[in-house]
Amino acid sequence: MIKRRRAAIRALLPILLILLWAIPSAVRGQSATRAIVLAWDGAVPAFVHELLREGKLPNLAKLIEGGAFADDVKAGFPSKTAPGFASLITGAPPSITGISGNRVPRTPRDQFTILESLAGFSEAPLQAEAIWSVAQRAGKKVIISHIPYFGGEKSDQAVRLAGYNATSGRDGIVTKRAMQTEPSDSWVNSPASDAPPIEISFTIAESKFFGLLIDDPTDSQAGYDTIVLASSRDGGEVKAKLKAAPAITGGELFWSYPVAIKAAGNRDAWTYFRLFDLKADGSDFFLYYTRPAREFTVNTESVASASMTVRAFVGNGASILYNQGGFGRTVANGGNGGAEARYLETAALAQHQLMETNRWALENLSWDLFLAYTPFPDEAEHLWRGYLDPTLANYRPDIADRLRPLLEQVYRTTDEHLGLLLANRPTDCVFALISDHGLQGINKRVALNRALQEGGLLTLDTQGKVDLAKTKVIYPAVNNGYLLINSQNRKNGIVAPAERAEVLGKTRALLAGIRDGEREVVKAVYDAETDGPAMGIGGDAGGDIYMELADGYDFDPRIGSGPVIAGVEPYGNHGANPEQASMRTIMVFNGPGIRVGEKLANVGIIDFAPTLAWLLKLPQPKDAIGRVLYEGFVEPR
Ligand SMILES: [Zn+2]
Repeated sequence: MIKRRRAAIRALLPILLILLWAIPSAVRGQSATRAIVLAWDGAVPAFVHELLREGKLPNLAKLIEGGAFADDVKAGFPSKTAPGFASLITGAPPSITGISGNRVPRTPRDQFTILESLAGFSEAPLQAEAIWSVAQRAGKKVIISHIPYFGGEKSDQAVRLAGYNATSGRDGIVTKRAMQTEPSDSWVNSPASDAPPIEISFTIAESKFFGLLIDDPTDSQAGYDTIVLASSRDGGEVKAKLKAAPAITGGELFWSYPVAIKAAGNRDAWTYFRLFDLKADGSDFFLYYTRPAREFTVNTESVASASMTVRAFVGNGASILYNQGGFGRTVANGGNGGAEARYLETAALAQHQLMETNRWALENLSWDLFLAYTPFPDEAEHLWRGYLDPTLANYRPDIADRLRPLLEQVYRTTDEHLGLLLANRPTDCVFALISDHGLQGINKRVALNRALQEGGLLTLDTQGKVDLAKTKVIYPAVNNGYLLINSQNRKNGIVAPAERAEVLGKTRALLAGIRDGEREVVKAVYDAETDGPAMGIGGDAGGDIYMELADGYDFDPRIGSGPVIAGVEPYGNHGANPEQASMRTIMVFNGPGIRVGEKLANVGIIDFAPTLAWLLKLPQPKDAIGRVLYEGFVEPR
């Protein structure tokens, strides 16, 4: 094999030599000592290709042109974010990492019931060795920038910027309900205003804010045009002065600097404000604030020198408020696009704040392995993929045509993020772009517990709670695409080992019988005991019975009465069987030692860590079972 590959390489040499002149110097030389990795959450290959063809992802295009690219990368089962990142960084599937979902059943089984769980991002112990641990053992300096965090790595020497562990509470909107009926004359140092100031007051977490709507004399806009915010009725204590402006691309100029507040437990936190609207007559306004974020703790002193915009984490756009209609009527519900414009500004702010942190860290900290994360495009894919999927019933092309350019904008900011990191890449540095899963359009949900209840496998008590003494199988609230058998080796379990086969058979029959009209809804059922090793499913912290649903259907973990199958407004989701084409994602390697223009096939997310380890001449991560993508390299080691 190796000999053949070498021969092929020799034949390619003249071409390579020509290419070497045309491609960046980073690719010259055959050995990398450093790496930058950027993870795009939830990159959908088909959409990436559309945008590449239209020239809309210039940085990704360059990266692919000069490197090895896979666009059919298999996620783990379930194809969710926490298990995806656990697998990306360890090279091992969920059955080995123990991260079988964004929430994970608690272990050991004999101490916890099938109803108990832990957060997969932060609490559940990662049971496999991460690539960054391998790198550190080899003396490399590692920076982990907001990669979804995993617990159980107490001895970590890496510089870890962990904003997602420091968010607190929700983002929100302040409108005219915050206006005070009393006159505002109790203010001291009242700011100059051409119209009588109108007082507002509201609370975020533990912090009370007082504000004034004013007509700023230095502002040529007629009528009320400005809101000043203070922590008391004192114009000398102003924390933010906000100009009203509708949502626009590049609207970040109108965001406040991070404003200090007290989060729950009286802890220091920060929030950013944006005044999307203020009526000239002062009758109403629309003020948005980001989710309070505590300053993330970093085990390096140098972060103290970074600006507040670097340190005050945003993390996500306002997708929840947007979805609830908080930004106004959505396009899908007859809106004019205003709600989407506001959401897009919040998404751009989150992206650009992450970029600021990464720019600062790359320039100010020393590193050999730099891993960065962005929650995009996933967040926007969840909002809009369902409307863009022409295979779903009731697909509306007019809505799709209006939403597509908006999703495109989100992909473009993720490409900008990539461009920033590429611009800061040293010459001896491998660059990898990774993603954890694809997404599919959803417009139906299947409440499996209702089917289990009807079939007598799940029983509720008089209060509507799960009766563990009479329950054999459940679709647990962790909602990971798998059922749990209430076996006797679990706390309060009742299914004896001898009874397992019978329970499994009943469950299979019940699932096979779920129909939506004529349509079979559960397409495949896998037993973790027999299919586990081949599929990377099961394990102590995994499920017992894994399922694949028909396209367009999503799992619904609710219990209690109601229909088994229900239609829902379209949305995007992932978590399904990774064999489904829609769950596939992308991976790119570029830099020293990596072939130019190579298309990689038969790639899984578990191949990333072994391949990166190989490129950096590190030992393989201990628990990795993924393969090294040798075919993407100029020469084997
Ligand atoms: Zn994800």
